[in-house]
Amino acid sequence: MSSFNVDVVVVGSGAGGSTVAGRLGQAGKRVMVVEAGPVRFGTPGLHARNLDVSEAGMLEYAKVVMNEWVFPCSSSTPVEGLPGFLVSHGVGGSFSLWCSNAPSPDVSELPKWMDPAQWAQYFAEAARVMHVDPDIAKGGVRAERILAATRAAVTGLPAGREVQPMPIAARRVDGKLKYTSSDDLLAQATDGVLPQVLADHVVRQVLHVNGRASGVVAFPRQGGDPVVIHADTVVIASGTLAAAQLIHASGIDAGPALGRNLLDHPILSTRVVLRPEILEDVPAHDPIFSIWVPHSADHPWQTEVFRFPQTPAAGTRDEDGADITTFVAMDENPDNRISFDSETKDAFGLPQVRVHLQHSLADTQRISEALAEHYRVSAAVGDITRGANFMMYGVGGSAHLMGSCRMGPENDGTSVVDRYGQLWNMDNVFVAGNAVLGSSNSSNPTFTLVAAALRTADRILDLTQAL
Ligand SMILES: Cc1cc2nc3c(=O)[nH]c(=O)nc-3n(C[C@H](O)[C@H](O)[C@H](O)COP(=O)(O)OP(=O)(O)OC[C@H]3O[C@@H](n4cnc5c(N)ncnc54)[C@H](O)[C@@H]3O)c2cc1C
Repeated sequence: MSSFNVDVVVVGSGAGGSTVAGRLGQAGKRVMVVEAGPVRFGTPGLHARNLDVSEAGMLEYAKVVMNEWVFPCSSSTPVEGLPGFLVSHGVGGSFSLWCSNAPSPDVSELPKWMDPAQWAQYFAEAARVMHVDPDIAKGGVRAERILAATRAAVTGLPAGREVQPMPIAARRVDGKLKYTSSDDLLAQATDGVLPQVLADHVVRQVLHVNGRASGVVAFPRQGGDPVVIHADTVVIASGTLAAAQLIHASGIDAGPALGRNLLDHPILSTRVVLRPEILEDVPAHDPIFSIWVPHSADHPWQTEVFRFPQTPAAGTRDEDGADITTFVAMDENPDNRISFDSETKDAFGLPQVRVHLQHSLADTQRISEALAEHYRVSAAVGDITRGANFMMYGVGGSAHLMGSCRMGPENDGTSVVDRYGQLWNMDNVFVAGNAVLGSSNSSNPTFTLVAAALRTADRILDLTQAL
């Protein structure tokens, strides 16, 4: 059996894992990131959209997303109870496929127990490391016309949370757009010690005794002997289902909230062909657009008008289309939960999971109100006379499943990790990624999870430097 010795082992290379790994590497820690899937797109953690950022490349990107977005463990069937839930197994996780919409959450979406001032520094830092640009989706002909039409359709929102261009995590490199993903987050460590990435290995166990972990055991995807990675600190960043699954499989006492308080964003989506007046005389290289109707306390959903990577309807050009997507906030409910079957193993050799996730009456009411606005926006920007493909995804289909390892202020059985992402009952095990976000929200979560993961990394540095 081969083994490695590092300071920190991180399980999973998506947004949460790469954020923590890059930050710790920057501070000089020796970090190994273990990822169940392969290196893709030529560079560990590269965003698929960067393979060809031209208009033609959008369709290639759509093909990659359709291939790489799969049921957990690349199974042929969905997780029981979660028909819409897909993941991506490869270095970068779903973060290598994401649409780069990086909105700041409203204060009403943050945990009530946490002082917003405690988040502020980390949101600023997340914007810096993710290269979030509030202006990059401004100024195009389609962008300005869609913005005006959406503003006319949705009024009465509070100051600062009115309809506006979406902040996008992308920058120009050598004159071309580069969308942010795990490669950029790992590169935080460029002036320190770059994390090692062990691809195509599934972690099945965190080794621990008396509340202290000593590393993890990883199994090669193609078979062969397991690898032991000895580490002073373990960070579990394997996604909302898989993080809870690994904690359970390892026999760690994470308390009664493990796997509970799942949050999804019920998602309404309509693909339209843009209205003729929006398409009139649009220049050939019109820049990207992404328009944002933000969440606020009295408007507990978020709508965006952008282009989701998918194949256009027959007879239409991709660049003439737009997707209107509305994410709706769900009630917090401990009964929305994962259950584990320790007797049956999934294709990764971890306990099979089942999910119970239902919308409450209040959720249904909220979805119906959001649907009315969704239609108004669709009709304002889309040529509805041609019809439109409306759909509501199956539960889990938002790609934003959150909450199985919820953060909380006290070890009172309602949370799994403390406000820094550390498991309550373990000295040196942390969770990063969407799994820790456990308060009702509807903004795309990646920006928020990166802020939380930066905080987790700083906490690890504080604790380990104090030793
Ligand atoms: C098409 C698409 C569009 C999206 N658009 C947006 C958007 O515009 N804005 C936004 O905010 N969010 C968006 N998202 C969601 C965003 O990608 C996620 O919020 C983010 O990637 C979650 O990060 P994570 O670290 O929690 O998990 P993930 O990115 O899922 O990473 C988890 C990683 O852990 C690995 N893993 C799992 N189990 C194991 C194991 N046992 N051992 C080793 N490795 C393991 C997985 O293979 C995976 O690589 C989108 C997602 C998709 C798919």
